[in-house]
Amino acid sequence: MEAHIERFFEIWSEAGLPPCYLVGGYPRNTLLGLAGTDLDLTSPAPPQALCALPAPELVLEERAFGLGTVVVKQRFRDALYVYEYTAFRCDNYGRGGAHTPETVRFTDDIREDALRRDFTVNALYMDADGGITDPTGRGLQAVKDKTIEQVTPQTLTQDALRILRMVRFAAELGFAVEPGTWECARAHVRGLADISKERIRDEFVKILMADTKYGNKEGVLCGLHMLKELGAFSYIVPALTEGDGMGQNTQYHAYDVMEHSLRTCACAPPDLVTRLAALLHDLGKPPVFRETGKMYGHDRAGAALAGAALRELRFDRETVDEVCALVGAHMFDLDNRAKRKAVVRMIVKLGEGQFLRLADVREADFCGSGMGAPALSAGKWRETLRELREKDAPLSLRQLAVNGDDVMRELHIPPGKRVGEILFALHAYALKKPSQNSYKNLIRYAKIINTRGNE
Ligand code: ATP
Ligand code: MG
Repeated sequence: MEAHIERFFEIWSEAGLPPCYLVGGYPRNTLLGLAGTDLDLTSPAPPQALCALPAPELVLEERAFGLGTVVVKQRFRDALYVYEYTAFRCDNYGRGGAHTPETVRFTDDIREDALRRDFTVNALYMDADGGITDPTGRGLQAVKDKTIEQVTPQTLTQDALRILRMVRFAAELGFAVEPGTWECARAHVRGLADISKERIRDEFVKILMADTKYGNKEGVLCGLHMLKELGAFSYIVPALTEGDGMGQNTQYHAYDVMEHSLRTCACAPPDLVTRLAALLHDLGKPPVFRETGKMYGHDRAGAALAGAALRELRFDRETVDEVCALVGAHMFDLDNRAKRKAVVRMIVKLGEGQFLRLADVREADFCGSGMGAPALSAGKWRETLRELREKDAPLSLRQLAVNGDDVMRELHIPPGKRVGEILFALHAYALKKPSQNSYKNLIRYAKIINTRGNE
């Protein structure tokens, strides 16, 4: 146990409060030899009791005080540690499927507190000496068997978000879901319709990044397959399910559109925007094919559908815009015949970071098709970008040695369209000849263009 936690327990016991426990991720991961989880504390003492702890190094912040939760910040050897403390409690759920407890009642019975938790592996309690209490009697065995098992038969019906938490823990930890729990999840997946989009989004993001938590390489694909088998995508990204069973040209594809999308996502590197773009890149295929009998234009249609799906999940604007741009561009140079000039134009259009993501999406797209063909275009693109960087080429207008003000002043022209046209021409020129990207050279060139009056 880390020194700061030992110190916290010391302060706790000096205050004469009933025993305090670490619960949830910390004991579970300690038993599994895994690191990297937040610190959840619990005891029968109400959160008010923490205010009376005799230690200046502790600072409390209210959080859902009525539900017994408070955030504790501890200063220890020049570092700050954060714990979330929640008093033992039982949650009462109404019959309306509200998925949040109607009332909570505080208790001093650890068994009651354990019964309101989601999975038996998350209902283990570690005391100050590192001893483990397993009130459900099934948590330690579940850790040994590497299984996610609900605490009671009502667990998943009371709060359907737990269905996504189940998938997330299984994906992160590489655990199997206990069969009874799985059946319950399947039977009650409709409950996800009552869960707020923000809560759904937060769990979904964790599933998309499941491999980064503890290094379980198969995590993302396993998680996505579980969501598919449960029928959960209808409540997360419904448009994705339209590709289920939609066959594709077998010359290029081993899977139907939906399966290809899931595999493309799992093949993508661990960057949320790239993974979202990979998952959603073919959203346009089903509707475009239905309408035209062809796939032409599915990239543009897909960008619009991806935007709608992400906005529905309340993703921030920057994420939505970045993902849409990638989905819209995902067919660029598919046959690897684009000339250098077209590649340079794409780099300028997307910006370097997004362009590198597009290369990742292209590789993931090939990987997710299951045909084993290499994505040669992506390698070519990266090489083009590398060369441009080496020559210090101005990849964005900001890197150009002159700006609009310079052009207006030196050429004696008023603000307006012409300034933009000249800057655009200067940019194209400097990209082609990076050595000419100096104030003097560009202004000279600008004067030539301006007298010519076109270009
Ligand atoms: P990690 O922090 O590694 O993601 P964790 O198990 O600590 O995993 P938290 O979300 O931090 O998960 O929650 C702490 C504990 O609180 C859980 O282990 C579980 O016992 C309980 N818990 C959290 N959310 C729920 C929920 N929706 N329903 C039931 N119990 C929950
Ligand atoms: Mg936790």
